[in-house]
Amino acid sequence: MSNQTLNLTDTVYKYLLNVSLRESEIMADLRRETATRSDANMQISPEQGQFMAMLVKLIGAKRTLEVGVFTGYSALAVAHALPDDGEIIACDVSEEFTAIARRYWATAGVADKIDLRLAPALETLEQLISDRQENSFDFAFIDADKTNYDGYYEYALRLLRTGGLIAIDNVLWDGKIVDPSITDDDTEAIRRLNRKLHGDDRVDISMVPIADGLTLARKR
Ligand code: CA
Repeated sequence: MSNQTLNLTDTVYKYLLNVSLRESEIMADLRRETATRSDANMQISPEQGQFMAMLVKLIGAKRTLEVGVFTGYSALAVAHALPDDGEIIACDVSEEFTAIARRYWATAGVADKIDLRLAPALETLEQLISDRQENSFDFAFIDADKTNYDGYYEYALRLLRTGGLIAIDNVLWDGKIVDPSITDDDTEAIRRLNRKLHGDDRVDISMVPIADGLTLARKR
């Protein structure tokens, strides 16, 4: 027995899903449809979706932000966890991805909770600040282009209330994060944000080794 996080084998991972995953039929369908795509690895894992839904319920979130929608699985997980009058402002630039998302949100009956903004997310977040929405959101999920991660984080921090939670995806970046020979812009951007968060006294943090790594940052 080790107190270090277990390196999951396929068998242990399957066990974890078998004994804990509670996924709606619609979410399973969306996962199956997305799996046929070449970019399917942009979708979060189902246990991560369930974990984020748990976080949203634990903090009693009502208003949330999502930066990077892809085919809509994470928004669906969060939308199910929100109260009836809850709201997600969802940012993406892809008509193609979000057309799939919208179809599933409609089928799941959560479309009215999700306000999709098809525009560069930095512009949408800036607009929310102009619209005096600072300190009004409870939760934010950041999972888009990595080179803008720092900008998304800074805007999300302003938009969240004290005690609000930011979840940042792909912080372990398939292990590339610790390979010094890999210095592409995406990898370096994630490294910079990880280092910055470690010393950022505006937030409490926890880097959770679920899926590709998820950092939780709670606004102080
Ligand atoms: Ca991701």
